[in-house]
Amino acid sequence: MKRITVAKGDGIGPEIMDATLAIMQAAGAQVTFDEIEIGERVYLSGNTSGISESAWESIRSNKVLLKAPITTPQGGGYKSLNVTIRKILGLYANIRPCNSLHPFVTTKHPNMDLVIVRENEEDLYAGIEHQQTDEVVQCLKLISRPGCEKIIRYAFEYAKLHGRKKVTCFTKDNIMKQTDGLFHQVFDEIAKEYPHIENEHWIVDIGAALLADSPELFDVIVVPNLYGDVLSDIAAQITGSVGLAGSANIGEECAMFEAIHGSAPRIQGQNIANPSGLIQAAVQMLAHIGQPDVAENIHNAWLKTIEDGIHTFDIYKEGLSKQKVGTKEFAQAVIANLGAMPKQLKKLNLAKDVSITLPKYQRKTPRKKELKGVDLFVHWNGTNANELASLLTELNTEDAKLSMITNRGIKVWPNGFPETFCTDHWRCRYHIEKEADLNKTHIIKLLANAHEKNVDVVKTENLYAFDGKPAFSLGQGQ
Ligand code: NAD
Repeated sequence: MKRITVAKGDGIGPEIMDATLAIMQAAGAQVTFDEIEIGERVYLSGNTSGISESAWESIRSNKVLLKAPITTPQGGGYKSLNVTIRKILGLYANIRPCNSLHPFVTTKHPNMDLVIVRENEEDLYAGIEHQQTDEVVQCLKLISRPGCEKIIRYAFEYAKLHGRKKVTCFTKDNIMKQTDGLFHQVFDEIAKEYPHIENEHWIVDIGAALLADSPELFDVIVVPNLYGDVLSDIAAQITGSVGLAGSANIGEECAMFEAIHGSAPRIQGQNIANPSGLIQAAVQMLAHIGQPDVAENIHNAWLKTIEDGIHTFDIYKEGLSKQKVGTKEFAQAVIANLGAMPKQLKKLNLAKDVSITLPKYQRKTPRKKELKGVDLFVHWNGTNANELASLLTELNTEDAKLSMITNRGIKVWPNGFPETFCTDHWRCRYHIEKEADLNKTHIIKLLANAHEKNVDVVKTENLYAFDGKPAFSLGQGQ
């Protein structure tokens, strides 16, 4: 018997969770539940994270959370509980299968059967943001080698385990050469370890367009966090309804399973919500905790119910569906179908062991890291970059000299275009001119000079070369 933690959440959460638990019980799942309260009521009681200490204890001791959607109150500095749970528990892989249920659920994409493997811990989702000047705010995009290795290896292992043929990677590395560039590079490295699985890379804009237009071209898709967030909702929606998809958040120690949709407050308490997303999450959970037979039984009974035309309002279609049912009645129909098989839809046939254990990340031998210069980010209210350059060359030290100014990434000095619009946020690059050994005392000197001359430096970024290769962006237009 496996003990798991259950959170019924807000809005339609309690209704779809009750329906899901009833199906699990009827199917003979060997689980007992600890229920925790998270979400709106906890937030509004003054806990800005939406989760209590005792709830954390339950999740950490049981290591598996089945979670219904929650409502994050607007305003008031409330943090997203989903993001917090994923990151604190190290749930690095977000797995979202999206397949159409044609011809029983209306979709423009009858042959769609793909899985999105979304990186879950880093990228712009780290939410590290600062206002630096009157006009400019920033969000830091962090991509790490261990983060890339874990998610990309997970995607290939997932493909191998589930007999999938291809893994596709989406990035925007033509623009973000360091961050998305690292994700792409690690993808190419790891793909070589799986010669029997096809691999490909698309720039995310055209890749996303293809996904929306011809999803049948894709099998497993691995993506950095933010692209994955957007693309997995699109992929779920075009199967027929967001109410149909579940997701697994997998870490080395713990895992969380949930529907992909939100708490749908407008339809709460009416017994009309589709519980399928959470049922799908429960199927993934049962497979994860080593009860694949129960998972298969529930999934196949669910498919049979969809085939029988017993549909909740969101997928009900006159002429196609047979019976419009409520949340509870849908669950009862799935229970009645336990043991039955779908006739047309592809039944679930899980490998007996569906757990994926990755090798522990091995830190590489450090590379030779040399300081090549520094970018001083300056808050300055003028508009003429040449004027700023004359002020900033006064900060030059013997070894570090002003070499470039950019504004929002566009080079505006030297030889800028007067047409370029400038904000009050300037990146001012200081480079070593000769083969001097630049060290941090040069940066301290530059900052001291800036302070003396009343130049408002709002942040610095060191410029490094690793193994002799410059590892920082140039100014666009340079
Ligand atoms: P939503 O997913 O709750 O609803 C979007 C639309 O889909 C609505 O029309 C809704 O009625 C419909 N819908 C969603 N689930 C359905 C289901 N199971 N059956 C039938 N129809 C369904 O998104 P939203 O309206 O943007 O957000 C509502 C609340 O949910 C917000 O407070 C948001 O913060 C929260 N939210 C929570 C999670 C989570 O806990 N995982 C995820 C997303 C949004």
